[in-house]
Amino acid sequence: MRSFGTTIFAEMSALATRAGAINLGQGFPDSEGPAAMLEVAVETIRSGGNQYPPGAGIPELRQAITTQRADRYGLSYDPDTEVLVTVGATEAIAATILALAEPGDEVIVFEPYYDSYAAAIALGGAVRRPVTLRPEGGRFTFDPEELRAAVGPRTRLILVNSPHNPAGTVFTRDELEAIAAVCRERDLVAVTDEVYEYLTYDGAEHIPLASLDGMRERTVSISSAGKTFSVTGWKTGWLTAPAPYVRAVQTVKQFLTYTASAPYQRAVAYALGNEAAWVEELRKSLEAKRDRLITGLDAAGFTTYRPQGTYFVQADIRPLGFTDGFELARALPEKAGVVAIPTQVFYDRAEAGRHFVRFAFCKREGVIDEAVQRLARLR
Ligand SMILES: *Cc1c(COP(=O)(O)O)cnc(C)c1O
Repeated sequence: MRSFGTTIFAEMSALATRAGAINLGQGFPDSEGPAAMLEVAVETIRSGGNQYPPGAGIPELRQAITTQRADRYGLSYDPDTEVLVTVGATEAIAATILALAEPGDEVIVFEPYYDSYAAAIALGGAVRRPVTLRPEGGRFTFDPEELRAAVGPRTRLILVNSPHNPAGTVFTRDELEAIAAVCRERDLVAVTDEVYEYLTYDGAEHIPLASLDGMRERTVSISSAGKTFSVTGWKTGWLTAPAPYVRAVQTVKQFLTYTASAPYQRAVAYALGNEAAWVEELRKSLEAKRDRLITGLDAAGFTTYRPQGTYFVQADIRPLGFTDGFELARALPEKAGVVAIPTQVFYDRAEAGRHFVRFAFCKREGVIDEAVQRLARLR
């Protein structure tokens, strides 16, 4: 794990504090989740719901998760055998990789990728095989031939994150069909990271890979309350999958954390059943914040890619005369009083992302406005 020393987020957030900069690096919201949901957590703590919950998660939450998958996507799962509540999506991803990939097995990831994927694959002694997302027609996508070519005899898993952090892509049905075809032909298990399932824009529809033909039986679907309800600090996630996969993942999970925090499970069960209108308001407000940030970044001279989902915008720095996102991100707090993340840290082939930096827009409007005013000084 030596090469995973300090994360870029720690480095950039420390820079932000030192320079008094606005942090558009790390993706966490600066406003609160639905009040009634917060109240359920408080009430649960006050009324004695503070001991170990069942390892698979409390029955109420497992039921709420299966109801959500059924109502929203037409996917049916047994709450007793096909659901596992985890310590955030992060634990679900790590435990799934540790359970399903043997040392030396290969795992396909679309790069740029969420940073915990590489670490979890390394922890399992598995090997990552990147497939690069490249800008085409204003969005990041992959070449199905490159995907096909990445699959070898040792390939076991494919990690699919849609809506995609940091590229902002929401995979279309065609893109998902291309992935599903490879999974079926090559007998791969798909692991999906759907933490931004509600946060899509411009009418883009989130389609779970498990809902495609022949995929439910070979997909572990992962999501989390953090992004949906603006409680990234709650670390309450879950997965749904056929029972043998859930058993295998729970075998690992029970020795990582055994179970996930009890009061939050009750609160998230409540929110999944009752806070759809709040989430829709969040989605709309994030869409407006995205537009606000993009307008400002464009005016400051960046070339931006309009994400169809998530918290993040990719900005090409070359029109401003820069070539290396790392150098710019390190200088930006001093130069402009803003923190961004150099996208190249999310690639194996860093050169594919060298000229991009990632800005988060899950921040109050005044914060976004102040940040883009400062960035306008770069010209
Ligand atoms: C935030 C995020 C996660 C982590 O979710 P937690 O529930 O906080 O563990 C996982 N994947 C992606 C793509 C994310 O952006």
